Amino acid sequence: MKPKPHTSHAPRTVPTERTPSASGQTAPAEEATERRPGSAGVSNWDHGVTYRPAVIVSARTVDDVVRVVSDTATYPSPVRAVGKLHSPAPCSADDGGTMLDMTSMTRILEIGPDFVTAEAGALYIDVAEELARHDRQFHINTEIGTVTLGAVACAATKDSSLVGSSQYGQVSSFVSGVKVVKPDGTVCSFTEDEHPEEMRLLRLSYGLLGVVVEVTLKTQPITALFAEHRMYSLAEFRAAVPDLVAQDLALMMYFYPFADCVVLEVRREEPGAKPTSNGGWWLRNAFWRKLGPLFVLSIRRLSPTDAIEHALIRFYDRLMRRGMCWFVGGKLTSPHAQIIRHVDDPGVNKFVFSMWSFDEEGYFDILEEYFRFCKEYAEQTGFRCNLPAVGYRIVQDRKALLSYTHDADALSIDPVSTGGPEWEEFLKAFNAFCSDRDGHPLFNQTKHLTAAQARKAYGKRWEEFAQVRAKWDPDDRLLSHYFADLLEGTRTT
Ligand SMILES: Cc1cc2nc3c(=O)[nH]c(=O)nc-3n(C[C@H](O)[C@H](O)[C@H](O)COP(=O)(O)OP(=O)(O)OC[C@H]3O[C@@H](n4cnc5c(N)ncnc54)[C@H](O)[C@@H]3O)c2cc1C
Repeated sequence: MKPKPHTSHAPRTVPTERTPSASGQTAPAEEATERRPGSAGVSNWDHGVTYRPAVIVSARTVDDVVRVVSDTATYPSPVRAVGKLHSPAPCSADDGGTMLDMTSMTRILEIGPDFVTAEAGALYIDVAEELARHDRQFHINTEIGTVTLGAVACAATKDSSLVGSSQYGQVSSFVSGVKVVKPDGTVCSFTEDEHPEEMRLLRLSYGLLGVVVEVTLKTQPITALFAEHRMYSLAEFRAAVPDLVAQDLALMMYFYPFADCVVLEVRREEPGAKPTSNGGWWLRNAFWRKLGPLFVLSIRRLSPTDAIEHALIRFYDRLMRRGMCWFVGGKLTSPHAQIIRHVDDPGVNKFVFSMWSFDEEGYFDILEEYFRFCKEYAEQTGFRCNLPAVGYRIVQDRKALLSYTHDADALSIDPVSTGGPEWEEFLKAFNAFCSDRDGHPLFNQTKHLTAAQARKAYGKRWEEFAQVRAKWDPDDRLLSHYFADLLEGTRTT
């Protein structure tokens, strides 16, 4: 089916042409701003990746995006749209190309009866707060809120699947429409109803098929969440999962390989019920926002030996596990309270992470092996992650060609630490461990991937994506070195 040609936007219900207050920005300026970043380049959020684009354009309007994408003489390829640069993998901009910063396009254009449409640079948390003022919410309330709608529409995300209600665990699966500037500069609107095939390709296309300029996401009435944290041994966790899933509980995990235990966050939407408390989510949010990294880095600074550092971290972890089980949760908690507004520059007190997902059937064996892998890796190298790994249970989801849960319900392992050169080496070993066990990486959230690992994980779907990409963008206007390297070895005809 042919995409709809671009027409000017005509709000159907609540025309909210306002910029979310938290971003502190006013209505869009007339003109885009441009700058050359110099040799220092631009870092991603955790400062683990540095991009050196020739030019950075801060787009204010769809016309700015069209101009940049179309003018190959002024704006060198590849043109890479970026949001808040929160991705730990180097998937966003590229050296020598044009970085198209979308974060000034923040207007919420329309809040309808069961959807919201906003510009691609609007932050998830800002739109969620605006929805709350209309007594509505997203279906998925990711932990991170400081990500752009453009990025969540076309790059991988995760949250534990609310199996009794909203189902999916990937935000892009709730995207029902996008407006896109294609690699040739044409503007097209796609909707789930009219263009299901294009939507399947665009979700998880990482800016390789077009620049997303507007996003429509499905919404629902604000619904209270039952939430609780529980502690298990590894064996107890494995035995408990089928029952918990049968009770329609969403499962998110904290893994402690050196203590052989798991803290489980269980959640369930309570349709028809309104929230009555913030559920103590602020404590969990404060941990991720600053306190977790701050404490473990302080412990490292104060510990005269590795053995003392590990003993103190064990003690601290035990306190945190108890704290989560006692204080975070409630019968009718607020869904919005789960979303975290991270600071723009975290400084040293930041956490970094990676993620692979595994089909549910083999997951529990792999998790046990992961616990052993962590211990053996620590024995061999002296390195251990100083923050708990996490994991999510996410249901099978075929809404996107490159969905990491395409063929089965899946659970993930996401190691977390405060970073450093030893972490980077750990990730390479972890990637090999996961690839050997048929895991699926996320191209924005899994660092140090190889082309062989991408091919093994996504197989025929990776081939199909390569072919679609070559057709949509024959001149490689949007293709970065990162993705060109990962696509190496695929056939494009
Ligand atoms: C501290 C922290 C916590 C996190 N927590 C979570 C979490 O709880 N759940 C979760 O799912 N993820 C989490 N993430 C990962 C994050 O959600 C993703 O990496 C997300 O893609 C980042 O969005 P962004 O706006 O920063 O986009 P960027 O990182 O700038 O871009 C991501 C990708 O999208 C493309 N892109 C961006 N905008 C557009 C556009 N308008 N058109 C076309 N392509 C575009 C980019 O080219 C790139 O390939 C976390 C990351 C950090 C650093």
